[in-house]
Amino acid sequence: MDFTGKHALVTGAAGGIGAAIVRMLRTAGAKAAVADKDVSGLEAEAYLPGDLTDGDYANGLPAAAMDALGGLDIVINNAGIMRRGPVTASTDEDFDLSVAVNVKAPFRICRSAIALMAEQGSGAIVNTASCWGVHPGPDHAVYCMTKAAIASLTQCMGRDHAHQGIRINAVCPNEVDTPMLRTGFEMRGFDPSTAVAELGKTVPLGRIAQPEDIAEVVLFLASPHARYICGELVEVNGGKPVG
Ligand code: NAD
Repeated sequence: MDFTGKHALVTGAAGGIGAAIVRMLRTAGAKAAVADKDVSGLEAEAYLPGDLTDGDYANGLPAAAMDALGGLDIVINNAGIMRRGPVTASTDEDFDLSVAVNVKAPFRICRSAIALMAEQGSGAIVNTASCWGVHPGPDHAVYCMTKAAIASLTQCMGRDHAHQGIRINAVCPNEVDTPMLRTGFEMRGFDPSTAVAELGKTVPLGRIAQPEDIAEVVLFLASPHARYICGELVEVNGGKPVG
């Protein structure tokens, strides 16, 4: 895939999947604007640190990326948080923060980006939902709800803005070997590396995903190779469907 001359905004750029997306986009020739709470360790063409729960920051990110890079062709809404537990173990703060980061921030970023992309008549947005947004898993009720919300929003936006030359899709990973997954094992008292290896045995392809396995699908959806894919939820699960 060749992204020469393309300009991309990536949120959650310091995380496991986000860092892989940024690396691979830049290797393929794109200029990248990285957004996360702390972007100091990243290599990119533009640095846009901030907290996605800040409405002004999220609303302004696409324009800030466009100004800094000299264009905006691709937006990757990848940032996310996972609060664990059934509803009976979930606080109002769990609910509000999960909705703020996983739903409201990408909603705001998409709204601003669509306005800019509509003016130029082209653009690609890829949101990170989850397999659990399509088939809810156990004991993560609030997380699953937020991923279902961004999945649905993606389908709606994909349909509503296709006529403006904008393709909006979502990638839906199952288990990926990132800090999000490993901290969950630590919190439950498991050794993360052993747990990742054990979990891999439950996947038909024999291992859980590495961040690059997801990033490559994100790049495909952002590329002209996916020119006829719009409003889709693409599950990337190694043959292990949830449900
Ligand atoms: P990660 O925890 O490694 O990265 C998430 C990034 O989002 C972090 O760098 C974090 O700083 C950033 N972020 C969180 N809250 C923020 C805020 N308020 N403001 C700015 N940045 C914020 O997790 P990951 O596994 O790389 O997850 C990336 C995406 O993939 C998430 O949307 C996640 O829900 C989704 N996903 C992950 C898995 C998995 O198994 N790891 C599975 C399915 C979906």
